[in-house]
Amino acid sequence: MSAKKGYELKPNPATGRYRLISGNWKMNLNHLEAISIVQKLYFELRDVDYAFSEISIHPPATSLRSLQLLIESDRMRFSLGAQNLYFEQKGAFTGEISASMLSKLNVRYVIVGHSERRKFFGETDEIVNKKVAATFGEAMTPIVCVGESMQEREDGKTDDVLSQQVRGAFGEIAPELVAKAVVAYEPIWAIGTGLVATPEDASSGASLIRDEIERNFGVEVANSVRIQYGGSVTPTTAAELLAADGVDGLLVGGASLDAEAFARIVRSL
Ligand code: PEP
Repeated sequence: MSAKKGYELKPNPATGRYRLISGNWKMNLNHLEAISIVQKLYFELRDVDYAFSEISIHPPATSLRSLQLLIESDRMRFSLGAQNLYFEQKGAFTGEISASMLSKLNVRYVIVGHSERRKFFGETDEIVNKKVAATFGEAMTPIVCVGESMQEREDGKTDDVLSQQVRGAFGEIAPELVAKAVVAYEPIWAIGTGLVATPEDASSGASLIRDEIERNFGVEVANSVRIQYGGSVTPTTAAELLAADGVDGLLVGGASLDAEAFARIVRSL
């Protein structure tokens, strides 16, 4: 990725961490629509917009190759992301996609353990852990999603749920790898519901996650891990969530399907 002088990606001066804003398209857009939306996003953004956060785009697997070619041929400053992978290297696993298949497409980030995968596809912490290991095994970065349901929140279990999911995802992973991970704090009650968490909620979730990482891997690792907030982010709420203490970026679902809205989110810093 070439950058015009003066517009290189800069870390947040307050934390030394590089912000990451990710668009999770879920099961939306065919490969032709995918090309068109990324082109629109590219035309919406100016050089300066790339200076404050890295931008990753996570289309369905059917669009990865098209977007790889588009991004690389036009030298767009977007990182390619996947929404999922399978932890085995190869073999009789019909319908699945391996880490090495993704890394061959220059995928940089892989979303792991999204609440929709936990809910609809039975992904447990153990599976999430294997997927995290497989992602690191191909030198890609996992974006590990954790978050509590409304019931768990009302029962005062947010702390326990986040701690367990963090421990589950990173158990047996080497600290130097954990330090490179991204964790997305995605309260389930805020995903796709329009119920956006307050900056205080986002901050408190981020600090519970960072504290758990510190307990398990030490303060240096905890200070390196990047924590995104995700859940019904819109151009109107993005700035205050990005400014929340301990929040290093955003994982955006619905609003990332609209190039103009996603560009406004990226520009909201
Ligand atoms: C998501 O898919 O991770 C997400 C946060 O979705 P939405 O922004 O639509 O709530």
